[in-house]
Amino acid sequence: MIAGGIDVGGTKIEASLFDAKWQAVETRRVETPATYQAIIEAIAAQTVWLGGVPVGIGLPGRHDAGTGLAFTANLPASGKPMRADILNAIARPASFGNDCDLFALSEAQLGAGRAYGAMFGLILGTGIGGGFCLNGRLVTTRGGAMGEVGHLPLPAKLGLPLLPCGCGRTGCFETLASGPGMVKLGQHLQGAKRSPAEIAAENGEVFAAWLEIVAALIASLQCTLDPDCIVLGGGLSNIDRLVERLAAALPPVLLKATTPPTILKAKFGDSSGTRGAALLAMQEQAA
Ligand SMILES: [Zn+2]
Repeated sequence: MIAGGIDVGGTKIEASLFDAKWQAVETRRVETPATYQAIIEAIAAQTVWLGGVPVGIGLPGRHDAGTGLAFTANLPASGKPMRADILNAIARPASFGNDCDLFALSEAQLGAGRAYGAMFGLILGTGIGGGFCLNGRLVTTRGGAMGEVGHLPLPAKLGLPLLPCGCGRTGCFETLASGPGMVKLGQHLQGAKRSPAEIAAENGEVFAAWLEIVAALIASLQCTLDPDCIVLGGGLSNIDRLVERLAAALPPVLLKATTPPTILKAKFGDSSGTRGAALLAMQEQAA
């Protein structure tokens, strides 16, 4: 075994041991306990199970680089120094990343983005987020906002409603581009509440507007990070022919005389959390 990864979610804490070919050889899942202290102890028990290999841990939410305090919606950890508490409990080194970053890293090193130098992994799901990799390595920054593209502002020219966002502001891409956002977009345009699957299958006005929103987000990404490719993940990435439909929506919104990023679908599904965490551990801890 060369590395281990732990994916901490709201319902389960999953640990996997990876061999030199990056296959998950053994996996151990436990239910996520209800209290903060029990969660820290469950993570510590998973690191003991993984043994002496480099260990990476994927945590949801954001962790303030200055104070170390967590901000997370699906664990009772907000306001706690979660990373420090884990390191105290396990008494050994560990690498930490968030789920979007670890998705991006696993796709950049082993998945759909392997052949590209600059890759952005874009999660289109319950929320919108991502991670940026250069030459197979995750780009992390002091501020902790890298990849939080769901909280870029929607372009005014689309004339869409400015809805409150979970981040405390209004008019973020996430409010209309996420799965729940697509439902709200349908309610705004047609007055009916329908699921993303129904909206995509209809392929009418609402889905066209959603594609335009995601294309505008990619245009913003192009002018900032200018990735060679964008790998799509999250529940909405399973929409039929989304890669082709999104690529077709890009030319009108991208800068003229530029090369559009190649749009790709992710190779890994649910396993990207543990695999990305193990890859991060190798990246950071291997001498
Ligand atoms: Zn926001």
